[in-house]
Amino acid sequence: MQERSRVAPWAPPQAQPRLAELEAEVSGLSLDAVTRLVDAVLAEHRGRLDEDGVVLYAGTNTMSERARAAHEISLGCRPSMGWPGDKRQTGLEELDVLEVLVPLQIAALMGGEFAEVRLQSATLANLACYSAFAGPGDTIAVLPQAAGGHTSHHAQGAAGIRGLRVADLPYDTGRLDVDHAALPAFLRERRPALVVLGASLMLFPYDVARVRAACDEVGALLLYDASHVAGLIAGGRFQRPLDEGAHLMTMSTYKSFGGPPGGAVVTRDADLARQVAAAAYPGLTANYDASRLAPLAVVAAEHAAGGSGYADRCIANAGALAAALDREGFTVVAAHRGWTVSHHVAVDAGAFGGGDEAARLLAEGGVYLSGVGLPGRPAGEPRRGLRIGTQEVTRRGFGPDTMGEVAALMRRLLIDGQTPAKVRRDALALRRAIP
Ligand SMILES: *Cc1c(COP(=O)(O)O)cnc(C)c1O
Repeated sequence: MQERSRVAPWAPPQAQPRLAELEAEVSGLSLDAVTRLVDAVLAEHRGRLDEDGVVLYAGTNTMSERARAAHEISLGCRPSMGWPGDKRQTGLEELDVLEVLVPLQIAALMGGEFAEVRLQSATLANLACYSAFAGPGDTIAVLPQAAGGHTSHHAQGAAGIRGLRVADLPYDTGRLDVDHAALPAFLRERRPALVVLGASLMLFPYDVARVRAACDEVGALLLYDASHVAGLIAGGRFQRPLDEGAHLMTMSTYKSFGGPPGGAVVTRDADLARQVAAAAYPGLTANYDASRLAPLAVVAAEHAAGGSGYADRCIANAGALAAALDREGFTVVAAHRGWTVSHHVAVDAGAFGGGDEAARLLAEGGVYLSGVGLPGRPAGEPRRGLRIGTQEVTRRGFGPDTMGEVAALMRRLLIDGQTPAKVRRDALALRRAIP
């Protein structure tokens, strides 16, 4: 077998064998062979994650049948540039309907007036805000990576692409919130154009009103990245950032929100919305894949019709799972605050070789989740924790009663050291037992 990958010879050494193995498998295939291979990939994916696995990965979800049925990929091959009534293209009158419906739905659910929904990801939604409100050389202040600050907030991500300087907000590890006492002086010194709240792990709300008051003193805009918690916000069961003073809110449409992949920016301010819209088009998109909008419309309508039910169930499951993990002998993060008020739970996996190592073992046993850095750990330490999100199992019908069984699967794999194949059978059985 070849020594190094041809696709990415620069990829890390641990990736090389897998890349090389696959390259050998897929090189030089005929049209028929590629078609068969693609069919097999899709079937296997449906089997593994959509039918068999206990998926606790925090950044994913599953769509309802109704929403899936609304996805027509050919819509995405129709570039639609400009506003309904003033487009570059002709013959897109049907698309106009979605382009008006979806922004109205998303704005209403999130407590805003305006929603920009053409951005294909939350990373691009954040970049649109940076492009609109901060120029190269300007500073933005964001949560430290150890506090879950997302790559798209940091210098190696979208913020760096925009040429921004990135300053870490002062952070209070005990309270898992901005260090409000230190914030005003910090902002006076660093003078950020934009302050960004929101993270990849959100167990508790932030004191948004207090951050907004400090932002006002220095004329900074406040952006709340609700990528993970958008589904809870839609149900009115997590803080409503625009009610509490954020100027702008960005979100992913496919995590707890449970729609197709994509991003959105929501605000109450027409002037800010106009600048975000210009950053979205003609700034960052031409064809934006309008096929996303149909399932997104269905999912938004499901949230509106379902009220707070889904958010309540996600949160109840997270609380039940945290308590069960604690009973099983795991160190659940933030015990002093009752572990979580969101759909997220974090576990200290230091005793199991760290989060990534533990996640690999859990996957062999049919439980899918990821490692995460934990607040208060030294910078540069490998991901110490496990991050859990209950949104997908909630949608699949798991209730608080089942969370004890999920925690037991994790205990058997990580604490008891049972063989993954054995636990995997029970993980599948648990999954099958849910109607
Ligand atoms: C996942 C995430 C993003 C990126 O979302 P994509 O839609 O995958 O680009 C941005 N910000 C936060 C806080 C996230 O958790």
